[in-house]
Amino acid sequence: MVSYTVPELPYAYDALEPYIDARTMEIHHTDLHQGYVDSLNRALDRSDQLRSLAEQSIDDLLWNFGKIPQGARAAVRNFGGGHANHSLLWAILSDDGGGEPSGDLAQAIEEDFGSFSEFTQSFARVAANHFGSGWAWLVRTRNRLVIYSLPNQDSPLTAEETPILGLDVWEHAYYLKYENRRSDYVEGFWSVVNWGEVNRRYANALP
Ligand code: MN
Repeated sequence: MVSYTVPELPYAYDALEPYIDARTMEIHHTDLHQGYVDSLNRALDRSDQLRSLAEQSIDDLLWNFGKIPQGARAAVRNFGGGHANHSLLWAILSDDGGGEPSGDLAQAIEEDFGSFSEFTQSFARVAANHFGSGWAWLVRTRNRLVIYSLPNQDSPLTAEETPILGLDVWEHAYYLKYENRRSDYVEGFWSVVNWGEVNRRYANALP
């Protein structure tokens, strides 16, 4: 029995209004994220080898992507990625969010991007310009912080890089409220980022 589970949201569905609307949060969490988890569990409940790989945390499963048998890789990439990515997203949002990071993360952002405002502009550009479905990521690599986007539910973890901030730019993440105005959605995102949690993920990332 493989039993990855959708984490509870640490806030109410309407907590991120007006930047992310309650109906979008509810569909996204209860329907879409749950769907990724259900599909992942089904795909891994097919052999003892897969069941034993599924004893790892979802992040470790993706980090050790090379050990997954060829026939299960697409399911882990798509559904496992979907599970890890959305779990990160819920955690780095907060109704008490916004502002700027502090401490080591603030210093690293200044060193690698020049300033916090240059960082947010670069991230927003990457998120707005990503073609099709995918995610914009702030990633801790071995040497520095980098921004890039990946298609679909691909996770930086499969390349052994640690995402510390991510934004879902699939239309399902913003279309109800923002229609095709993805840039406005990205702009609103900064008001609900939980920098304390991003800071924690930065500190815990493998060097
Ligand atoms: Mn999504």
